[in-house]
Amino acid sequence: MSILVVGTVAFDAIETPFGKTEKIVGGAATYICMSSSFFTKEINLVSVVGDDFPKSAIKKLKSKFVDVAGLQVKKGERTFFWSGRYHNNMNNRDTLETQLNVLENFNPIIPDKYKNTEYLMLGNLMPGVQKKVLNQMIKRPKLIVLDTMNFWMDHFMEDLVEALKNIDVLTINDEEARQLSGEYSLVKAAKKILKMGPKYLIIKKGEHGALLFNKKEVFFAPALPLEEVVDPTGAGDSFAGGFIGYLEKTNDISFENMKRAVIYGSALASFCVERFGTEKLDEITHKQIKFRLKKFIELVSVDLNLE
Ligand code: AMP
Repeated sequence: MSILVVGTVAFDAIETPFGKTEKIVGGAATYICMSSSFFTKEINLVSVVGDDFPKSAIKKLKSKFVDVAGLQVKKGERTFFWSGRYHNNMNNRDTLETQLNVLENFNPIIPDKYKNTEYLMLGNLMPGVQKKVLNQMIKRPKLIVLDTMNFWMDHFMEDLVEALKNIDVLTINDEEARQLSGEYSLVKAAKKILKMGPKYLIIKKGEHGALLFNKKEVFFAPALPLEEVVDPTGAGDSFAGGFIGYLEKTNDISFENMKRAVIYGSALASFCVERFGTEKLDEITHKQIKFRLKKFIELVSVDLNLE
């Protein structure tokens, strides 16, 4: 069993009320791979970088069980660059700059050995590219999870609506759910979005947790109240990596198991935000993850007597 991850591998420059970074390695796929590496030892990455991307960062991915046969390195071109500034509440951010660079003409080529992968994570990327990946799979994966963001809704809404038609799980944040559906109420938004194709919808609400919907049920997972939130970048992707990683490991895509996967995703995201970039994901251990999962259980457990 394995996971196929498609998404950006990038340089980020981040500003938060707690500090500022120069260009550091980031990108949706980077966070997804690092997070899912706690669950599976077979992660196949499809992405693109320029020849300005450090070899050491590719080596680091390899050390996290990531197969990089599908990572294109474009000679003489520059890696995707994103910079963002967080507001004081750390839940909202402004994108300061997006330089597509190598992404502009990215043609994803799925190596033959990945074409039968059962668990497909279409990380944040041009919707047209996400669609091209789907079209190259030999048979429909058992689970297709797609993540996207406001940038693609602003510029490529039609392509995005097309890409959503044949997926299982869509993960977006609350603002994006409102933008995609045109509804303020998240319950109404979920109803509309579930009619657009996805069988399940996860709405991430930052420090206010995450909601998992299908057509009949809804599940809520809180975010762990943390003493220190330094940089929320990558929280959504770490969530996605933990979510799909757990589902792949257990090979069970029922709604009940997705509820557990949402908690695993939330646990991974809670680590990610404690340091800048991928720093924290890089140093945590399985033992620390287990301890944090226990905290989640304590946080949501209550003994009610309804007599
Ligand atoms: P998250 O904080 O989980 O939403 O994701 C942050 C990551 O998304 C950063 O590492 C960025 O490099 C990456 N990113 C930012 N803008 C885009 C975009 N338009 N498409 C794909 N990835 C992006």
